[in-house]
Amino acid sequence: TREWQLAARPAGWPTDDDFRLVERELPELAPGEVRVRNTYMSVDPYMRGRMNDVKSYTPPFRLDEAMTGGAVGEVVASRSDDLAVGDTVLHFQGWRTLAQGKAADFHRVPDVPGVPESVFLHALGMTGLTAYVGLLDIAEFREGDTVFVSGAAGAVGTMVGQIARLKGAGRVIGSAGSPAKVELLTERYGYDAAFDYKDGDVAEQLAQAAPEGIDVYFDNVGGDHLEAALRSFNKGGRAALCGMISMYNATEPEPAPHNLFMAIGKGLTLRGFIVGNHYDRFDAFAAEVGAWLATGELVYDETVVDGIEQARDAFLDMLRGANVGKMLVRVG
Ligand code: NDP
Repeated sequence: TREWQLAARPAGWPTDDDFRLVERELPELAPGEVRVRNTYMSVDPYMRGRMNDVKSYTPPFRLDEAMTGGAVGEVVASRSDDLAVGDTVLHFQGWRTLAQGKAADFHRVPDVPGVPESVFLHALGMTGLTAYVGLLDIAEFREGDTVFVSGAAGAVGTMVGQIARLKGAGRVIGSAGSPAKVELLTERYGYDAAFDYKDGDVAEQLAQAAPEGIDVYFDNVGGDHLEAALRSFNKGGRAALCGMISMYNATEPEPAPHNLFMAIGKGLTLRGFIVGNHYDRFDAFAAEVGAWLATGELVYDETVVDGIEQARDAFLDMLRGANVGKMLVRVG
């Protein structure tokens, strides 16, 4: 197998030297094990956190070992009765060409016409569930709400905006980092208004896009976006704190939100969550989102980079905003 290892713990923005691609012989399959040729692997913002040696909800990557992450692939050898050669499986041994281990760690993906296996890494997988749970359960979305989504053109953000619209939002507003993305938000993803956060003050742009204020904020970014949302919130507003990507590569701690005091007078609820604790909602999510995908009421985009040797760059480019929708590496 060819696999990406973490060679050093990055300080601030990762550099090329923090990673290495190595070739390694896999041991013979033990009873109960399978070998899988990965077809797609996911690169995700949370992986940056796993490069630091700090205690978090997922343990840090270990130095000089293959990194892990979501992937899909095809079983190419099996010593298990549960999986057969040719099965398509979802698992957590990304960042490599061949995965191997106990069959129980590999989950067969359903064969849904018109749904390629890569979709189980986003719209019908982790990032889709994040959007669904964050909006409906954590932010307690209600029909008629005005919803603001940051990081709106990414894997999670594109789903949040569309689910809000399909569930009867009054108004959906998104922010993203380029004019092309802003256009996609309104033209393709059904946002009512969108702005480029690099194009001016976030609070001012949000106030313009939401003259009546916002009821829900889905935070993927933190920093100035969270500040802006606190200012624009109506009474009883609710925020799902999903991610704060603006600080993942920061070397200095961010100042606390200056507008946090507004949570008092407005009676706001700011609630963080980790999708891994909400897989009890997977079936409800998959049924509802699967149906919207089948009718075409909900769409997705993938930004696909070819070749395992491109995985590091794909990860870093995603952090810089090169992706529309889900950033993926086609491994094969
Ligand atoms: P995306 O597909 O949204 O990719 C990351 C995007 O972040 C980039 O495309 C870029 O878009 C944007 N970005 C990067 N730096 C900044 C910045 N300084 N300010 C504003 N935007 C920035 O990734 P995901 O959809 O996978 O993840 C989105 C967020 O959700 C992340 O914060 C992630 O950590 C979080 N998350 C949390 C989960 C949970 O369980 N709580 C689960 C999954 C994801 P642009 O061009 O617009 O800048």
